[in-house]
Order: sequence, then structure tokens, then C-alpha cells
Amino acid sequence: MNNYILVINSGSSSLKISLFDFSLKEMLISFNFQALNAEDCTLFANFKGKKITEKLPNFDHEKTINFFLNFLIDKKIINSIEQLKYFGHRYVQGGEFFQKSTIIDKDNEEILEQIMDLAPLHNPVNFKTFKIFKKNFPNGLHVAVFDTQFHTTIPIERFLFPIPYSYYSNHKIRKYGFHGSSYMYVLEKAKEYFKKKKLNLIVCHIGAGSSICAIKDSKSFDTSMGMSPLGGIMMGTRCGDIDPSVIEFIHQKTNKNLYEITNELNRKSGIKGVCELETGDFRNLISLVEEGNIQAEITYNMFLNRIIEYIGRYFFALKGEVDAFILTAGIGENSQKLHTDILDYLNNIFKENMELKHQEINGIKVLAKFKNFEYLVIPTNEELVIAKEVKKFI
Ligand code: ADP
Repeated sequence: MNNYILVINSGSSSLKISLFDFSLKEMLISFNFQALNAEDCTLFANFKGKKITEKLPNFDHEKTINFFLNFLIDKKIINSIEQLKYFGHRYVQGGEFFQKSTIIDKDNEEILEQIMDLAPLHNPVNFKTFKIFKKNFPNGLHVAVFDTQFHTTIPIERFLFPIPYSYYSNHKIRKYGFHGSSYMYVLEKAKEYFKKKKLNLIVCHIGAGSSICAIKDSKSFDTSMGMSPLGGIMMGTRCGDIDPSVIEFIHQKTNKNLYEITNELNRKSGIKGVCELETGDFRNLISLVEEGNIQAEITYNMFLNRIIEYIGRYFFALKGEVDAFILTAGIGENSQKLHTDILDYLNNIFKENMELKHQEINGIKVLAKFKNFEYLVIPTNEELVIAKEVKKFI
């Protein structure tokens, strides 16, 4: 009887579940439920090379999980529910407690409950989803893979915030960094590509949520997100770094409370907020830029500027010793405009460009080769990293 690994990635309004064959050669199914608990809740599924879209109005996390499990049996993808034994839970914030992936036993479950408040938008929903799977599969092996674990190598002078030290010693307020599984995947691919174990990279994970990571000697050295995924560069709906006094000033002017303001910074800012759009979807922004919309152009330029500034910052932090600049995730992998605009900066600064023809080598797009570094696109696969982490425990 075949065994499988399920990878679960839950957000407050989305849930992604992927089923892997035990060999990890193939992702058999990927389900992506969007707009949970809302009228327009929709499933986008990839299954046997087919794409399926289905409206599931007002489905919550529990209903979508039941729907997924029934689908596996109905479509005879698995013979029995007993074949599901291994579960990888993407967990956003592991704090300082979890330095690597871990089996969620009773003790760890208690710690996960204790660190809920470190990431109030993410950890409670990750925990809730884990509990639903635990209820359905009490004897399964449940492994938590943390977004933060890749960044535990960031040195203290880079992870502390310049605020009173007691906030760190008493409450663990510090930079943690996110998108760790994505960086782990991209790093492994880059090692294969360069046939080198130790690499210095600047990786830009530019998707709905975006961050940039400086990798030194194949370890995270610094990253743009902070204590939560709200910090760093500008994103689809999140503001990234801003002057912190803006928060008090908004409160004084509008009487909104801290919770309301933080919610706006998370959900109504970034591309969506500056360009006054319905969503933070990058493709809509680019369509408007192409139509000559001035507000869209300003928004795009802000977005680009923040990426460039972090690239420059990390280039200096790595003392100019960089093997590659790499783009990944939805926008990073697909936006030719972003590829070209970043390349313009690289070309202006490093004039000794060797090759500028686009090549594709084992799924890696080579956008340009310079004398000392390459400019690449490496498509990410966070789910595969999580499945591999689970397999280590079996
Ligand atoms: P997440 O995994 O965080 O939900 P993704 O990495 O899938 O996000 O990125 C989603 C973003 O990628 C959206 O803003 C979307 O507009 C953008 N995107 C997807 N495809 C393209 C494309 N072909 N060109 C430009 N942007 C794209």
C-alpha cells in the first residue's frame, strides 16, 4: 500500500493542501482554497494535469479539509484514508524555541500554544488547522516546518531592533524573518547550478507577500521582514518598513485604535493602498501602468525602489561578494518588467556584462551573466521543501 505526504499551508483566508507521492518525485494534487468564510470562496485545484475551479461559498477551514479528504476518496486518488499518515504543517513563526522542523508531540503542542501571540495573524490559524488534522488523524506523524527556521543564523547585531534591550530579553521582540522554506529551496537549486556548496546570494522572493534575503556562506545573514511579515519591502497589501510614528499620528487624526491601524497596514496598504485598488494583485497594477495611469506608475516605482534599496543594502552587507542575484515567487518569476528594471540598475553599476541572452538551464532562467555574478530566476517550491523535511522524520 502506497504512503503519501500531505503538506498543509494555512492562512487566515486561504488554505493550500498538496499531496505528494512518497518518492517526492511528483506532486499528485494541489488544492488552493481562497477567500475562506466568504461568499466568493473558491477552490483552484491542479489534479492530473487538469485545472479545476469550483465555488464553495462560505466554506471555512474545517469544511475545506473535509471536502479535500472526500475528493481523494471519491476520485480514487487514494484507496483509503489510512494511507494518509504523514503531515507537514507550514508554521509561520517558531520564535526562538524552534530552530528546526519538529514533530508536534504533546510538549511541542503546548509550546506552539504559548507562542501564538508572536504572530497573531498567522500562528493561531496554523494551530487551528493542525488541530483539525490531528482530530482526523490522531495517530499520524505531524511535523511543523517553520518559516523562521532558515533565519536562525542571522547574527544578533542584525536581528535586534534599536529599541530598549529589555524588550528582547523579556519579550523576545526581534527580527525573525520569513519565507524560509522558499529560501531553502532556491539555495539548494543554486548550489546544484553553481556546483558549489558555499554561496553568497541575494534572493528576492517577490509574491503577494515579499521579502529579500542576504545569504552568506549558504546561511541566512539578513532578511527584510522583521518580527512579523509586515516589515521590509512594500507588498501587495502590506506596507513594509515605515516611520513608526505614523501609527500614533493616524490614531490622533482618525481615532482608529491600534488593532484597526495594524489591520490597515497589513491588508489595505502596499500596492492596493497606494494605488487605491480592490486587491493588491500585481498584474492589475501593471495593466494600469501600461494604460498610462499615473497613480499606478508612482505605485510601481515605489515598489521597485524598495526592492532596489534592499538589494543595494545587502550587496554592501556582503561586501560586494555575491555569486548571484535571484528572483523568485509569483512576481519575481513572471514579471518581465521587473526583470528588466532591476537589470537596468545592474547594467549601470556593473558595466562588464558578459552575456545578455536569455537561457534556461534545468528550470533556471539565466537573465544575464556579469563578470563576478549571475542574474537568475529560480522558481520556488516551498511545498516540496516541507515534504522533504517531513520525510527526514520517517
Ligand atoms: P503567494 O504564494 O504569497 O500567495 P505568489 O507567489 O503566488 O503569492 O504571488 C502572487 C503575485 O504574483 C500576485 O500579485 C500576482 O499578480 C503575481 N503574478 C502572478 N503571475 C504573474 C505574471 N505572469 N506576471 C506578473 N505578476 C504575476
